[in-house]
Amino acid sequence: MAASRYEVAIGLEVHARLRTTTKLLCGDLAEFGAPPNTHVCPVCMGLPGALPALNEQAVDMAVLAALGLSSTVQERSAFARKHYFYPDLPKGYQVTQHGQPLATGGYLLLPDADGGKPTAIRIRGVHLEEDSGKSLHDRVAGATAIDLNRAGVPLVEIVTEPDLRTPAQARAFLSRLRQTLQYVGAGECDMEEGSLRVDANVSLRPAGTSTLGTRTEIKNLSSFSGVERALRWEIERQEGVLAAGGRVEAATLLWDAQRGEARPLRAKEAGADYRWLPEPDLPPLVLSEERMRRLKQAVPEMPDARAARFVRDYGVDPGHAEVLTGTREVADFYESVARRTDPREAAAWVMGDFLAAANAAGGDLDRFPVRPADLSGLIELLAAGIVSRPVARQVFARMAATGKPAAQIVGEEGWQRVDDADALGALADEVLRDHPDEAARLRAGETRLLDFFVGQLMRRSGGTADPQQAAAAITARLEIR
Ligand code: ADP
Ligand code: MG
Repeated sequence: MAASRYEVAIGLEVHARLRTTTKLLCGDLAEFGAPPNTHVCPVCMGLPGALPALNEQAVDMAVLAALGLSSTVQERSAFARKHYFYPDLPKGYQVTQHGQPLATGGYLLLPDADGGKPTAIRIRGVHLEEDSGKSLHDRVAGATAIDLNRAGVPLVEIVTEPDLRTPAQARAFLSRLRQTLQYVGAGECDMEEGSLRVDANVSLRPAGTSTLGTRTEIKNLSSFSGVERALRWEIERQEGVLAAGGRVEAATLLWDAQRGEARPLRAKEAGADYRWLPEPDLPPLVLSEERMRRLKQAVPEMPDARAARFVRDYGVDPGHAEVLTGTREVADFYESVARRTDPREAAAWVMGDFLAAANAAGGDLDRFPVRPADLSGLIELLAAGIVSRPVARQVFARMAATGKPAAQIVGEEGWQRVDDADALGALADEVLRDHPDEAARLRAGETRLLDFFVGQLMRRSGGTADPQQAAAAITARLEIR
């Protein structure tokens, strides 16, 4: 960052969609991608007299998200109405949490790239709220259409302290946050579905001073790269204003990804504009001890702890352990392979051919045909010397395409390594006979031709011969005759 004269402070407000079956306050499906207005009812359309009922699955997931962020979950929280007018908000208010949020405090650790101490980004709080509907500007010529399928879908809002110092760090935070929510089973945070949306607050202050500068807020960023680019742009703009002796005005900005610039949406509104009211149709949310105990038990081993254990128990490199714990599914897969066979070999296969093929097939490991036992089976064939390494990779490709076990593929294709002396000897005879001139030169001492014959023999064996044994078989033949 060019800002050596200024120190940057960034605080994020992240809205993450919870992976519930139904919406926060009614029984409509919270599914993404359905035809417009097919998952709607009087509650989420805001019809007069309709009464909300709280989705307990959403509460559980929000609590899990908070626990994953080491946030303090409040035994008692409450819902509130935040009023504003917008065409995709038919009720005229959003049900959210305000004075008494679900959880307060917490932090997320950002690993240090050079292996140093991680940086803690403090979390201010975590609360539950409902999403708004969606305005569609490209469906009807000259008009805006409203899709209310998203209205009432449960979100957690996670607010950080202004602890982030660079746009790249903000991006790293978001990817860690996504991983955390994914691990606890709260959400997939798929940016394409817009299931993670970010408002980014940023300010500059003279380096070495402690009072934060005036901030601006960039609204509704929906990709990690968008957050990073928008922050870069805005930091540069604020720098320009300050360097010219001006003052940064508090403002809400909207990022235009197409043009790569932000424009003012409004001067920062006063808090009172929302006319906050306690939600009269929902009782306070009280979490029993028993429920909290159950949810705490449901928090899995988190990525850092799991990566450290992989290093300890399976002897994998720390950098590799980080890749292997990238998602909970990958970590689970790796671990079930590692338990069955050589863990380091398993790590190489999972990070290499396995993830490449699984990602190419869409990335859903549950649907990928190679199961842990199949991969460990292949590794065992390799370890036993039944297939060579290049052939093992060929076998893997076939496994990924067909779902057949390694041993079956090797058997059907006749890909067992040829290493009995007779078979190799016969192949050596063949290649020497087929290339009499080269054979004569090799016999006369032109030893660099040995590689040529090894190559010929390997090809004839379909790659199943061991190169060293092939070389031995050829030289043995030459000495005999
Ligand atoms: P509001 O209540 O107006 O939304 P908050 O004080 O709750 O404002 O902060 C909202 C977000 O803005 C938080 O993520 C916080 O860390 C961040 N933030 C607050 N002040 C600053 C600042 N001066 N510079 C950068 N970020 C800030
Ligand atoms: Mg907010």
